[in-house]
Amino acid sequence: MPSPTLVWFRNDLRLADHPALLAAVERDGPVVPVYIWSPEEEGAWKPGGASQWWLHHSLAALDRSMRERGSRLTLRRGPAAETLTALAAETGARTVTWSHRYEPLAREQARGALTALTAAGIACERYHSALLHPPGQVLNGSGKPFQVFTPFWKACCARGKPEPPLPAPETIPAPSDWPGSLPLSALELEPKVDWAGGLRSAWEPGEAGAWKRWSDFAPRIGGYSAGRDRPDLPATSRLSPHLHHGEITPRQIWHHVRKNTNRESAGHTPEVEHFLREIGWREFGHHLLVHFPHTPEFPLRSEYDSFPWERDPVGMQAWQRGQTGYPLVDAGLRELWATGWMHNRVRMVVASFLVKDLLISWHEGARWFWDTLVDASLANNTLGWQWAGGCGADAAPYFRVFNPVLQAEKFDPDGAYVRQWVPELSRLPVPWIHRPWTASPSVLQAAGINLGIDYPHPIVDHAWARDRALGALARISKPEAPAPEAPL
Ligand code: FAD
Repeated sequence: MPSPTLVWFRNDLRLADHPALLAAVERDGPVVPVYIWSPEEEGAWKPGGASQWWLHHSLAALDRSMRERGSRLTLRRGPAAETLTALAAETGARTVTWSHRYEPLAREQARGALTALTAAGIACERYHSALLHPPGQVLNGSGKPFQVFTPFWKACCARGKPEPPLPAPETIPAPSDWPGSLPLSALELEPKVDWAGGLRSAWEPGEAGAWKRWSDFAPRIGGYSAGRDRPDLPATSRLSPHLHHGEITPRQIWHHVRKNTNRESAGHTPEVEHFLREIGWREFGHHLLVHFPHTPEFPLRSEYDSFPWERDPVGMQAWQRGQTGYPLVDAGLRELWATGWMHNRVRMVVASFLVKDLLISWHEGARWFWDTLVDASLANNTLGWQWAGGCGADAAPYFRVFNPVLQAEKFDPDGAYVRQWVPELSRLPVPWIHRPWTASPSVLQAAGINLGIDYPHPIVDHAWARDRALGALARISKPEAPAPEAPL
């Protein structure tokens, strides 16, 4: 009987387009799929509360799919290197396969596993599948990482088609004896006090849920460019948590939208290109994280190290609770709390409000998102927050300050998004829905609002805050080019 192969599942909770799994199945011996919960090895960026909720349900879904194919998911807890070495000894496995992750500590964890397994005489096979192109392979003419998105994406596109996606194995050969597994509940991923009702009704974690989301979105892709900035419309894919947990891959998406590539009209419409470009931003964030692994903690542009951020716990709490008095900002933060997700345009507005109107560090905002987002991704979250803070790659210049009222009037023109998430304002007519403090007492009374009691006055005056932010910017020193790390 050939020896078993262990497949170490990480952020790749699917069966299709899974090269590490397929390689194990094709080895012609039994396969033992394992997931190891080891939050200590993720340091300050262990999965937050919303991500843990997702992970619980995604692992359950993966185990169900494996059982349909004659297999099952073994769950373990502990440091990956020791756990894999022990499991290999227990099962007699001679090979372990896994998919690359790109977060600095996840890379360190994999290096530790590689060293320990190799020392024990066990072969390791590692595969790229979470990105269109492996980091380190998309570099500028001087062999350096890109720090501006458009040339990065052009270089990605110039590399041609990404690898075609692989099929899911029809069966996964089982060992004669299964190693012991922890029950899923022992990982304690679900919240002890059940705050996840909103998440449950908004999402279906797992590979099947990802494909339902895709099937729902694909026929609407034609409206992507026109609608993607409108939080009041269902115009974007909402695939981000599925992509983050590896339930669907970017190359599956790429080949899906391009499957009619010979017919110009089907595969290359501006909407399809626009959508793929956004997948390209995810790619950009991951490549940057590999080249600049210090960026989850420190600005890419080092002059921002000395930015005079404010300590403002009261402002922070008002922001977190959606009580800033700016309806679009509050709607976004309440949507986040209720569903674990927020629309991209609104993420940009709430992030700008925190770092520019409240002068609170981008890092504090990133930490809040980390705990509350179901799609919390170290690469994308760092990219998004440093973009908003003006201190990252291809960032919004710090001096360009979003006006939360004008943004709201442009992107939520009828106030439908605000009415959904800030119901106390729902009876306010359009001219005041995004600026209730300018409504007359009679308008407020007719809408049933007692301003300052039912809904707060703005916690900060935007025009004053803008001047303060620009003054703070003037106090920091001139830019220095950041030095890249070596690629994978
Ligand atoms: P779609 O518009 O349907 O786009 C398809 C996919 O492309 C997304 O699922 C996502 O994987 C990728 N994508 C789209 N826009 C971006 C972008 N600007 N940057 C990187 N990838 C993108 N995204 C995360 O996945 N995790 C995060 O933790 C995260 N934090 C963010 C924090 C801030 C401050 C900001 C401004 C943005 C953040 N984003 C993050 C990016 C973006 O907001 C989300 O990816 C997007 O809103 C997800 O919705 P969607 O799936 O409907 O996107």
